[in-house]
Amino acid sequence: MLSLLPEWDLFPAVLRGKIRLKGSSATNPVAVGDVVTFEAEGDVTLENPAVITSVKPRRNYIIRKSTNLSRQSHIIAANLDRAFIIATIDYPEVKLPFLDRILVTCEVYNVPVTIVLNKVDLYRESHKEMLEAFHEIYEGAGYRVMEVSALTGEGIEELREACRGHVSLFSGVSGVGKSSLIKALDPSLDPRVGEISEAHTQGKHTTTFYEMYSLSSGGFIVDTPGLRGFGLVDLKKEEIALYFPEMLKASENCRFTPCTHTHEPGCAVKEAVEAGDISYDRYSSYLGMLDEEGKYRL
Ligand code: GDP
Ligand code: ZN
Repeated sequence: MLSLLPEWDLFPAVLRGKIRLKGSSATNPVAVGDVVTFEAEGDVTLENPAVITSVKPRRNYIIRKSTNLSRQSHIIAANLDRAFIIATIDYPEVKLPFLDRILVTCEVYNVPVTIVLNKVDLYRESHKEMLEAFHEIYEGAGYRVMEVSALTGEGIEELREACRGHVSLFSGVSGVGKSSLIKALDPSLDPRVGEISEAHTQGKHTTTFYEMYSLSSGGFIVDTPGLRGFGLVDLKKEEIALYFPEMLKASENCRFTPCTHTHEPGCAVKEAVEAGDISYDRYSSYLGMLDEEGKYRL
């Protein structure tokens, strides 16, 4: 489906064979968020769809590789201004190493991230210290952390404001309230609709299509139903720390370059961890990734 902008009025479109074949190993040459040129004759309908003639260069994109060995990749979304990573301190409990992998992925793909803590109505009082620690860890690493509740409406106006005028990816493990948040942002949207019908099986590959929603308050959301992570990202050991912004900054003062920030003398990152300037949890996620020999399921 395509739409002209700024109006939001979706119409059907198909691909021309030759775009399909061009260059990339992606199973889908066009993804949500792509800007394309197209041709259309007469009234565009399902029987007479527009024809996509080219895909404009992408500012960024997030891909998913299906398996370790597979050369094929699937473009999840393109031209994202920001990713909102939805999490909850509890119900479900946030897994910091997993969150850190998502953050690393967004850094790799050059998509700025905001962390959204949903369901604060449930745990603000009962998990006060954990909530404070979370802010300290992630704000300390340079990320914005918002507190919201899809249930009470707290923080929703702020989130709406943050989405205005941008294309935003919404991601988070199932149960954190992603669909509820999208609905709270714009009650006319119903992300659950279509969630099932949009996933279908092609031989061995399960392909999920991600949908873009237009917020009546302005801005677009790319929902990623069922997306647990972003697949595999190939990083060399010495590259991983580049994607932990606080480590990248500290590493300017490491005695050796490259430095893995593990055993090297004069390592400024380790010193910052010992001094409490870099969170031990973040450092520990980093060590976990270092241990995995180059392939990361993100
Ligand atoms: P998704 O899997 O991330 O899309 O999560 P859902 O939007 O389906 O929400 C999962 C459950 O959490 C549902 O039972 C929601 O009613 C509940 N929920 C979502 N947001 C909130 C919130 O802010 N506060 C509370 N207490 N419950 C919420
Ligand atoms: Zn170092």
